[in-house]
Amino acid sequence: MTTSMSLSTSTFDPVDLPAPRVDEAWAEQVAAERWGLAVTARGLGSNQDANFLLSAGAEPVAVLKVSNPVFGLPEVEVQDRAADLIAEAYPELRICQVLRDDAGAPQRAVVNTPDGPAVARLIRFLGGGTLFDRGHVSPRVAARLGEVAAKIDVALARLDDGGATVDGVDRELQWDLRFAAQVLDALGGALPEHRRAEVLAAGAAAWRQVARVADDLPRQVVHLDVTDDNVVVDASSGLIELDGVIDFSDLTRTWTVSELAIAVSSILHHPGNDPVDVLPAVRAYHAVRPLSAAEADALWPLVVLRGAVLVASGCHQTALDGDNDYAETRLAHEWRICEQAMSVPLAVMTALVREAIGLPVDRPAPPLAATQLLDAAGAEVLDLSSTSPLVDDGAWREAELVERLVAAHLQRGHRVVAARFAEARLAGTTEPTQEPPATVATGVDLWTTDPADLRAPWGGDVRVRDGRVVLVGEGIELVLAGAEVAVADGAVAPGSLLGRTRPGARLRVTVGRNASSAPEAVPSAYAAGWLAQLLDPAPLMGLEPSGLAEDRTRERLLQRREKTLAEVQEHYYAAPPRIERGWRHHLVSDDGRPLVDMLNNVTVVGHAHPRVAEAAARQLRVLNTNSRFHYEAIVEFGARLAELAPEGLDTVFLVNSGSEATDLAIRLAMVSTGRTDMVAVTEAYHGWTYASDAVSTSIADNPAALETRPDWVHTVPSPNPYRGTRRGADAVAYGPEAAAIIDRLAAEGRPPAGFIGEAFYGNAGGIALPEGYLQAVYAAVRRHGGVAIADEVQVGYGRLGEWFWGFEQQGVVPDVIAVAKAVGNGSPVGAVITTRAIADAYRGAGYFFSSTGGSPVSSRIGLAVLDIIRDEGLQQNARDVGGHLIARLRELSQRHELLGAVHGSGLYIGAEFVRDRATLEPATAETHAICDRLLELGVVVQPTSDRLNVLKIKPPLCIDVAAVDFFVDALDRVLTEGW
Ligand code: PMP
Repeated sequence: MTTSMSLSTSTFDPVDLPAPRVDEAWAEQVAAERWGLAVTARGLGSNQDANFLLSAGAEPVAVLKVSNPVFGLPEVEVQDRAADLIAEAYPELRICQVLRDDAGAPQRAVVNTPDGPAVARLIRFLGGGTLFDRGHVSPRVAARLGEVAAKIDVALARLDDGGATVDGVDRELQWDLRFAAQVLDALGGALPEHRRAEVLAAGAAAWRQVARVADDLPRQVVHLDVTDDNVVVDASSGLIELDGVIDFSDLTRTWTVSELAIAVSSILHHPGNDPVDVLPAVRAYHAVRPLSAAEADALWPLVVLRGAVLVASGCHQTALDGDNDYAETRLAHEWRICEQAMSVPLAVMTALVREAIGLPVDRPAPPLAATQLLDAAGAEVLDLSSTSPLVDDGAWREAELVERLVAAHLQRGHRVVAARFAEARLAGTTEPTQEPPATVATGVDLWTTDPADLRAPWGGDVRVRDGRVVLVGEGIELVLAGAEVAVADGAVAPGSLLGRTRPGARLRVTVGRNASSAPEAVPSAYAAGWLAQLLDPAPLMGLEPSGLAEDRTRERLLQRREKTLAEVQEHYYAAPPRIERGWRHHLVSDDGRPLVDMLNNVTVVGHAHPRVAEAAARQLRVLNTNSRFHYEAIVEFGARLAELAPEGLDTVFLVNSGSEATDLAIRLAMVSTGRTDMVAVTEAYHGWTYASDAVSTSIADNPAALETRPDWVHTVPSPNPYRGTRRGADAVAYGPEAAAIIDRLAAEGRPPAGFIGEAFYGNAGGIALPEGYLQAVYAAVRRHGGVAIADEVQVGYGRLGEWFWGFEQQGVVPDVIAVAKAVGNGSPVGAVITTRAIADAYRGAGYFFSSTGGSPVSSRIGLAVLDIIRDEGLQQNARDVGGHLIARLRELSQRHELLGAVHGSGLYIGAEFVRDRATLEPATAETHAICDRLLELGVVVQPTSDRLNVLKIKPPLCIDVAAVDFFVDALDRVLTEGW
């Protein structure tokens, strides 16, 4: 987007500047003759200049830039000075500076071209490519673009230091947005007829907003083209690091804020990017070079003008060029920029920009009401948000819910029922969507038992359109939708009858600037912008304002969390959504959006399962106490657990967590053998309590894990057939290797009390243990009189699909099973199941009492969970839906190099990302970024393994094919579009 056509001031007729007609052989000759370089030249393409990459062998040496002959030395010199200034101010940025000889003189010369003398120079080659075709622009990259644009402006402001005249920057370029209106006048005719009016009208409206503040816009020399095309990136870390800038040929003195407008507009054509995605760039720019209020107000209109100028120029160019695929492709991107820029009202985006940088937002003033619109005092005000206490059975399909609630309240004798302004309502469906749904209400909804009069609170002009009454007066609009209309077009006095409510039917009241064009609900990312145009209609009806437009509960809650809770009590995501509701395999964020939960291994039977809730509630209403009392629930639950375990494992301890269960299992091994040494698998996690932590060596959970093992803990190598020391078919040797370590310990006089390991290698990413592994290890430990412990905390309870317990997959039976998580479906319920003999040995260790382990409520919940797993066929569902999911992920891995392997069974799956399938270099940063992007697309998933490069996929076992397809489609999109 760098074509600069000179424009004559009077008419702005574009003048074409074709690039100088010089070729690679010519470039090589110039390089040799002028600078003594023995290089090969490769044309780099440019619209108005000729650029060649000069290389010695494979090594890039420089770029030979031959400026368009219409530009003289002053223009070129100032561009080089600008580049030097930025490089000096910000050494961390790579800048395409002119190269200098040993004496420090710029390598610049006037050379002859077939189009006349032109300035040629050697400039620094910046490798890595540009941002243009890097796919989706993440908030992090957008912020960096804004920061770089600001740094360029800060540095370029110094060009004017000292007050001397700067040559070569006061020119009239087509891309200078000060001339946007004239350029649209001159080139608008090239726009296709069916789109011309819309683009020109948007341009004209934008120009009016700019004109209002133009005199207050600071000016300076700017790059004017800090776009995705001209910022270079370094992606060697796996993430896009934007670290350099090229092409100073549009350098000009103009409104400084144009720099930012042009930069952010180039985000808009990237896949999956929307207007709000520029806000991180705006914030980052503002942090380096604060924007004034006038600049904030000019920003979005300038983006619109940029979009309009791009398409007008692009259409003009393709008309001149005829068949030019390159120009056609560019034009498609330019149209996307323009459409996106026009897609949100100027006032809405301007309010969002102001809010993003902490400037006050210009809100309409509430007019003085001479009379109430309607008397709704005493109305029942509904809560339709994600924290609504009224919705307790997961039926949050808004329409149904509202109908039910309204009917119930009206029956109970409430005369009026209202739903709140600015409320982020439950999305109205449990079907997640990749685009955030419009959930934030822009008005108040009302239902009445009897027809109620609706009166004009102030005077104005009425328009009735499509059954809606729009009262325009006091500088704002009041809109009634769903009323029985009792007024015709024309002027009305305050207090005039506008209509009546229809009993039982919904009336929507919207008030504000352009209220008639506001959608009924908007996505939460845009809500602040829309709500800044609107007023809460509640006071017009004698109701309290909702206060939700200014609601910052999510942020405040996070601050309070950080202040109140221990720092190590972590949360997922840097900017976590607030989650207060779930249903089956969905979580609902506080903006009402349903998300697919691919993460919650604890909630096996699904969130908010009514049978679990009912079992807990019923028991809570009658008794909850400690396990030393004699009651039925603990007996029944213990018996059910023993029934599920293999023959001989008939004795149960009830505890509260996985950590407690593994800790107790270790204590049982020690006390039943009279020994203290334990053997564990590296890269495992077993819990946080003293003993369970001692046998945990996952460095993802504890970076110092390997160095800080107590001397009674011995580890065997991580039996990872994908990336361990023994891979593929060789992995069968892990078992004998571990057995040999156990034999050696025994030979050294330290026979272990036991071996603890996950029966399916969960923490490393859902990897099946190599065939025969546990057979070899259990045999070795038992050979020396030790105890085999299976940690089934994550993988047991049906998640693997084919097997209820992980050890079944290995064809072994442990001596002790530790289980939790799924057992309580999110409630703290855990258990240890073992033999009578081992259990009896515990007496020797002293005391066992876990007050709430096996309490009446825990036991009832545990029983309900087991009933549901059985009745709903969840283990079979894990097998079938999991099989489908694994097959789909494997198919993805054939198309996306990054997805190196898909591990797992049933609904315990690891999707492992690697930078290189040969070296298996873990793609840790990418995995993190992919998780963040997936959240934006409606999926909750997180990384696991010591390298944090595996998506841990372990959803509630009730998940269905539609939801896993949604997840895989979103992942496919992220891997295709970028993150
Ligand atoms: N064992 C394994 C295999 C686990 O994954 C976990 C928890 N991640 C635990 C034990 C500890 O369970 P809890 O968090 O319930 O204490």
